[in-house]
Amino acid sequence: MDLGLHGKIAVVTGASKGIGLGIARAFAREGANVVVTARTQAAIEAVAAQIGRDFGVTARAVASDVATPEGCQAVIDAAASLGGADIFVSNAGTGSNETVAEAPDEKWQSYWDLHVMAAVRLSRGLAPQMEAKGGGAMLMNASICAVQPLWYEPIYNTTKAALMMFAKTLSTEMIKRGIRVNTVNPGLIRTPDWENTARELAGANWEGYLQEVADEHADIKRFGTVEELADFCAFICSPRASYCVGSAYHVDGGMLKTT
Ligand code: NDP
Repeated sequence: MDLGLHGKIAVVTGASKGIGLGIARAFAREGANVVVTARTQAAIEAVAAQIGRDFGVTARAVASDVATPEGCQAVIDAAASLGGADIFVSNAGTGSNETVAEAPDEKWQSYWDLHVMAAVRLSRGLAPQMEAKGGGAMLMNASICAVQPLWYEPIYNTTKAALMMFAKTLSTEMIKRGIRVNTVNPGLIRTPDWENTARELAGANWEGYLQEVADEHADIKRFGTVEELADFCAFICSPRASYCVGSAYHVDGGMLKTT
């Protein structure tokens, strides 16, 4: 299936590794130019160079912290300098580990800034670019934890739930401007980060540890690959998904324990 992404400009935050990198590569594979962002300059520049080499598209690196207004503005400006965004994937994010009793206000605020305010500021700033090009698509990468919490990460669960609701309300506003907004809620996706955590927790038996996690949580009894998730994200942001508006899609191997 031709997704109709050739020549589009896709902005993906948190794209130096893991899921964001996979999504950026999926867009580039379809012929889209990409703006890839992360805080670590060397890493994001290396990723942009590699994408350019692998797929022959324009790949622009932005090293900035999207949890700040200035960091978001740098991304918006980079997209404008390429001709304006058609697609925006809010992906930068990270897990947490705390109890409500012990976590200080500052920790809540930092996750709110990263998981919610980055999406608010970037969607607000990129929307005029999309509108000027006749429309576009936005995708918020939340998590299954937005609807089915894990006990050890209350701040993550809460801020991802807020991101999902933000996407829903944004969708109603944006579709009037020709911009489709959706949410993806991944389950267990095997990223280098998960592999490192498993090595820390289980040493030589880290593969066995990952299998135990998958056995416990996912009906399919395995982690998803980054590519399995990224292909879905590329499709949902493409013109081939033109009637998909304001929904939250689970890509979770049966981890969600409800319909
Ligand atoms: P990784 O930790 O592998 O990658 C995170 C990326 O985001 C990196 O490129 C990192 O680069 C960047 N990043 C982190 N903080 C910021 C910031 N403040 N500003 C700009 N960039 C930032 O994460 P994953 O690929 O595992 O996860 C990606 C998203 O998917 C997250 O939102 C996560 O919550 C969600 N998710 C992941 C699941 C999984 O199983 N892996 C399951 C469900 C949801 P740098 O540190 O250089 O800034």
